Amino acid sequence: MKPRWLSLLLIATLSFTACSEAPPQVHKAKLFTLGTLVDISVFHQEKAAALQAVTIVETELETINRQWHAWRDSPLTQINQQLAQGKTVTIDSTSHHFLQQAQTLAANSDQLFNPTIGSLIEQWGFHSDDRPDGAPPSKDRIDTALKQVPSMANITLTTTTLASNNPAVQFDFGAFGKGYAIDRAVETLKLAGIKNAIVNAGGDLRTIGSKGDRPWRIGIRHPTAAGVIASIETDGDESVFTSGNYERFFDFDGSRYHHIIDPRSGYPANDALSVTVIHHNAATADAAATALFIAGTTQWPQIAKQMGIDKVMLIGNDLTIYMTQKMAQRIHLEIDNTQIKIIGDET
Ligand code: AMP
Ligand code: MG
Repeated sequence: MKPRWLSLLLIATLSFTACSEAPPQVHKAKLFTLGTLVDISVFHQEKAAALQAVTIVETELETINRQWHAWRDSPLTQINQQLAQGKTVTIDSTSHHFLQQAQTLAANSDQLFNPTIGSLIEQWGFHSDDRPDGAPPSKDRIDTALKQVPSMANITLTTTTLASNNPAVQFDFGAFGKGYAIDRAVETLKLAGIKNAIVNAGGDLRTIGSKGDRPWRIGIRHPTAAGVIASIETDGDESVFTSGNYERFFDFDGSRYHHIIDPRSGYPANDALSVTVIHHNAATADAAATALFIAGTTQWPQIAKQMGIDKVMLIGNDLTIYMTQKMAQRIHLEIDNTQIKIIGDET
């Protein structure tokens, strides 16, 4: 007969083993915010801890969405009204951090990422939850807007105030807010002890860790056909963002007009179908994907370098795929018969 202490030890060991070997599972949540469906997947052992962290993240994302919404009544639309009246706006430290990051990214992109052109974006009809259904703005209206075209260089920030020396500044953070929000979400998950997760907002995402013994694997949408054009396995803590002309657009008189506006011309940028960027930080990846889309087939390597981005894939209008060397090492193309140009290794 076994001594009683041995039985107790066995029971304790067995229950500990059962507990510690409970296989981690993917816990998922979906919510509609930031203008898209956000999918949060957490690969974690304890379901309750995972769900609690996800609930905090959901609240956080919705708070950011409400704060920076460009056309529904929001703290941002109030800021825009005050700036249009030439007033100095009082801001809190969170807003300061957000605006400062956007200002740095705008400067590094030569103001191609320009979150102050809200008026132009509104004129193009994209300040709406619905697809624009009218005519594009007249050339006269665009020329007038371009005469006073604002940029983040017009903004003066202190830790508590925001001022603009150009009354045309109207913020629209559609090209950056999603990335910023995903960064906050991932920081919150990390603080809650989550080591493996993916926060995916309509195909733009950041991952941490892995999905068990496999990396997180994601598809990059084909810009002109159904399905994916490429896939990427993320390497731990990494963000993947794509800007494409298929995301929001309208057709008028046989022409298509999309939502990424070249601040130099006032018209939708027309030298790319999509741009995908991999970078550690989601806000940087978001702003960079937009800026490089506008930069187009010839200027993107220079702008990528300035923004500190070394993994880029740009799909040109003729479906030629331009990539940095480092992106080529990471991406798995799912199509044949396309021209591929690997651009230098200096980026
Ligand atoms: P993304 O999908 O990240 O490329 O962001 C596109 C959104 O950013 C648009 O729907 C506009 O709200 C806004 N946007 C358009 N053009 C620009 C630009 N040149 N700079 C910054 N934001 C822009
Ligand atoms: Mg963007």
